[in-house]
Amino acid sequence: MREDIRSFLDRVEKPGRYTGGEPGSVYKDLSDVKLRVAFCFPDTYEIGMSNLGMRILCRAFNELDHVWCERVYAPWVDMEAEMRQRSIPLFTHESGDAVGDFDIVAFTLQYEMCYTTVLNMMDLAGIPLRHTERGEDSPIILAGGPCAYNPEPLAPFVDIFSIGEGEEALPELAKLYLSMKENGTYTKSAFLREASHLQGFYVPSLYEVTYHEDNTVAAIQPLYPDVPEKIRRRVVEDVDHTVVPTDPVLPYIETVQDRVTLEVFRGCVRGCRFCQAGFISRPVREKSVPVLCDIAKTTVENTGYDEISLMSLSISDYTEISHLTDELLEWTDEKKVNLALPSLRADSFSRELMDKISGVRTSTLTFAPEAGTQRLRDVINKNVTEEEILNACRIAFEAGKTQVKLYFMMGLPGETYEDIAGIADIAKHVLDTFYQTPGRNRARAPQVTLSVACFIPKPQTPFQWEGQDTMESLAEKQKFLMSKITDRKIRYNYHDARTSHLEAVFARGDRRLGDALELAQREGMRFDAWEEFFDYDKWIDVIRRCGLDPDFYANRTLADEEILPWEIIECGVSKEFLLRERHKSQAGDTTPGCHEQCSGCGANGGLDPYACTWCPGGKSSKKKDETPRQEKTPRTPAARPTPGFSDPGTQKVAYRTIRVRFVKEDPALYIGHLDVARVMARVVTRSGLPVYYTEGYNPRPKLVFASPLSVGCGSDCEIMDIRVLPEVTDEEILTALKAAEIKGLTVTDVYEARSKLTEITDASYRLRIHSPKASAEYAKIVEERFRTPVIMMKKSKSGEKEVDITTLIRSLSASFDEADGVLVVDCTLACGSSEYLNPSYVADAIARETDLITEDTWHETVRRALLRADGTEFR
Ligand code: SF4
Ligand code: SF4
Repeated sequence: MREDIRSFLDRVEKPGRYTGGEPGSVYKDLSDVKLRVAFCFPDTYEIGMSNLGMRILCRAFNELDHVWCERVYAPWVDMEAEMRQRSIPLFTHESGDAVGDFDIVAFTLQYEMCYTTVLNMMDLAGIPLRHTERGEDSPIILAGGPCAYNPEPLAPFVDIFSIGEGEEALPELAKLYLSMKENGTYTKSAFLREASHLQGFYVPSLYEVTYHEDNTVAAIQPLYPDVPEKIRRRVVEDVDHTVVPTDPVLPYIETVQDRVTLEVFRGCVRGCRFCQAGFISRPVREKSVPVLCDIAKTTVENTGYDEISLMSLSISDYTEISHLTDELLEWTDEKKVNLALPSLRADSFSRELMDKISGVRTSTLTFAPEAGTQRLRDVINKNVTEEEILNACRIAFEAGKTQVKLYFMMGLPGETYEDIAGIADIAKHVLDTFYQTPGRNRARAPQVTLSVACFIPKPQTPFQWEGQDTMESLAEKQKFLMSKITDRKIRYNYHDARTSHLEAVFARGDRRLGDALELAQREGMRFDAWEEFFDYDKWIDVIRRCGLDPDFYANRTLADEEILPWEIIECGVSKEFLLRERHKSQAGDTTPGCHEQCSGCGANGGLDPYACTWCPGGKSSKKKDETPRQEKTPRTPAARPTPGFSDPGTQKVAYRTIRVRFVKEDPALYIGHLDVARVMARVVTRSGLPVYYTEGYNPRPKLVFASPLSVGCGSDCEIMDIRVLPEVTDEEILTALKAAEIKGLTVTDVYEARSKLTEITDASYRLRIHSPKASAEYAKIVEERFRTPVIMMKKSKSGEKEVDITTLIRSLSASFDEADGVLVVDCTLACGSSEYLNPSYVADAIARETDLITEDTWHETVRRALLRADGTEFR
């Protein structure tokens, strides 16, 4: 961790976002590194750490010799303010080095509303925003991800866009860099020119864009003859043998996807005409069951995660979903690992699948009919009928589920008020279905939640030419739908049309929008995907001040023959196919999914046919698996453990309560008690010890901690009790826990617990105050100050009240550590269930009563012992 952030880390929200040092972080010997890459996620740590793509790409870089790729996340606004105040530049998680000093700075572009955060991160790194302002010494700015399928709004800032899947392409780029450095031909411009020759890389500065008087694009032309006219995206053909991080970086703090994310296949067999993800990821490439099982098992063993989320665009379309879930459930039940299937389609949802996932925590099932009538579902090619939706709900209700969430879109091309009313009708029919299901769960009332988003025309889809509905029209439709919902069991959530409008502007924008992005960043805009920071009026003002019209980009219907700003990018699916689909939608005609019939979309062009599951000549046309599957006896759900006994119904065995002592220190210092508990649960799971698990749908190792420790406070004496089967010795437990322990939470001792945690009444702490004013005189002043009452506002469950904290301080002495120039305060504070004083109150009191602790000094606090009322150490 960087030393210069210590003085203010305790003042920012979730300091664990910035400390780095997480298990699984990759470190390399700098003397052997010739290319340093800073891989940036333009949003918070919790969101970025959940992104599977970034994990894969960092790994792809780090597998290369001489290349070190480190992670960077956008600091939250409080952290950014502290950093700017002290001129601390944006830094990486691993080395803590300034991002501006790296050779390549890469950004993943997951959504348009992250663009200002990209620029803000560059600014915080001290990197000039425009490529025209950057010299030889500035890093190369690389960007990729779904938004790179229309790279133009960011074209003035980015040196190279990576188009398509990056795990094979990025190492090629890195090798080109290394070889040009090696043979002495490297200059930035020479490298960019060479990079433009690699498939899947777009160097926007090598193209000139001209415009007609009506502002539409007149031409996109390469500036040099050797620069390609079109950029073809990259596709990984063999997804079974691609990079998979089975030992990912394990976050100390809770992240959005704190589980194993198992990517089952890429692409989607459907062809919903609004869906960019579906088109840009074609064709479908499935991983095989043995490979997936191996990945899942290894990752669970390495991480100690207790949930596997099967991730793909439409998971129930996986041709071997039944085989896969059977194989996984063979061991996940026993290891108490949950299986989660997030994206279900009503028409491929079965009772069998329901039975397999009925054990998961959630009581809500989610389906996406997208439109309220069959007519409109045909227009958008959402080939799912109301009957299929109701049938899927019936299956869910029979399995005891009571809540259904339905996703719809508003403002779709060709939409009428009848279609909007149809959304409310479907919700009513789902409720009727609940009451008509004989085996329904009668203990709970049903609930249908409608989540209605606004249609955004996305590049590389058949609807890329369609204009977005106006804000006024969308607002009226939202009101109309509200008026149609009369049952309180139907909840209605709708997306903010203003955010969708801006998203459409940048989704279909051209490179002139770069001016607006730059101005927005200069005026302090970032984190636009966060409601609290999104300012629609300011955005519209910024765009207009740059002489641009937001409606030109978002609301205009484009002509078939118009040159699209993103036309230089070839996403695999041909423009002819997209236009054909556009015209079919206008006629209300549907197109079958790839699994029913190949429609010749072009996405298989240039690929090994066998790589694709459904394309002609692909895997589905041959025998998928030569070895016959062994028939299995029907699976019965594994029995959940019963409290206190290892084997319910057969042999009643009492567990031994084992006390585990551990140290909490850097880099786990800045995590709170709940995160310590979560991480220690993973340690216990990874240890493989036969421990007692809690009951319920989400069983976890039963852990009991002695007095919680706050964020930023270290400890030499943490205590956690676990219950282990008696045949395992203390030595074996210690060995297993040591093998599974996580940096910063070091297990020091285990022994049978012979005393009750309730015996703890006090704890002793040492505060070391790093202040230039620290001296023997100040030590005396501090001691003196605590001899008389110190009144502080103290938080408790019932609120805040004034308390004389000296009544909770058993002893306090201060001294000056001359060697380190540090003021040392040793104190014993109340730490029982009835009386408790957080040591931060002592530090706050010293800050208030003296000028020892200021904004730029820092102090460390370590708990040294837990004590009984008689002053003896609790063990
Ligand atoms: S089912 Fe439709 S909406 Fe879902 S990923 Fe596939 S194409 Fe997109
Ligand atoms: S080539 Fe045919 S099977 Fe392959 S993705 Fe396109 S439509 Fe689907």
